Amino acid sequence: MKMGIKNFKQVFKALKQVYGNKYAWTEVKDVLNSEGQSLNISEEDIHDPFKNLIIGILSQNTSDRNSTRAYVGLVKEFGKITPEVLSKASVEKIKSAIKPGGLYNLKSKRIKKLTQTIWERYDGDLTKITKLPKEKARKELLELPGIGQKTADVFITDCLDIGVMAVDTNIERVVKRLGFVSSGAEYCEIKNTLEKDISPKERLRAHELLIRLGRDYCKATKPLCNVCPLNKLCEKNLIKVVD
Ligand code: SF4
Repeated sequence: MKMGIKNFKQVFKALKQVYGNKYAWTEVKDVLNSEGQSLNISEEDIHDPFKNLIIGILSQNTSDRNSTRAYVGLVKEFGKITPEVLSKASVEKIKSAIKPGGLYNLKSKRIKKLTQTIWERYDGDLTKITKLPKEKARKELLELPGIGQKTADVFITDCLDIGVMAVDTNIERVVKRLGFVSSGAEYCEIKNTLEKDISPKERLRAHELLIRLGRDYCKATKPLCNVCPLNKLCEKNLIKVVD
């Protein structure tokens, strides 16, 4: 149900006015500035297909700060993050390396299983996926253990360089509160609705800015509606005002 917002371009335009060209991944940068420089880690790691999937698993259900700390821990422990290195590593060693990021019991097992599958199915070479057409690549990715729709879409954006709208929990929360999709909308409906209004070359920036809004204003437990730059467009806020 769309009340205040007729087209997502309205929201995107407002977000661009608020944030301009401001860099979106400030929490990642903070951790890399303090811990990553000596380890030769950079934000470019996200464009390496294997590292992208590992970062994707580490970022599930946690903040950028925690997932970056976990990734830094992996690099400190193993040096190179490759299918060959991690397929030989024990779950215990992976677990202790990613401990700073939380959920390490679950994620260490996921990393191990994913790495072994990539090694067995693709000889450790994920360029076999990056060369596929988008929909085929997405299908292959979703067949890998531990890889869900958001992680697959982030991979397509970062490693195939094709603009798709990856939907994380921040984006889901924001667009539902804005009233742009119904509260019961699921991943594909949200993704398709946003993609309809945003061109492929702008989808990455729209993804970044929606996440930024979710972190800065539209927080999960206490949204800062009174200072939110979108409060005049937002259905949740309009309902609150009427109440
Ligand atoms: S007005 Fe409130 S609910 Fe609406 S987007 Fe802003 S913070 Fe979220």
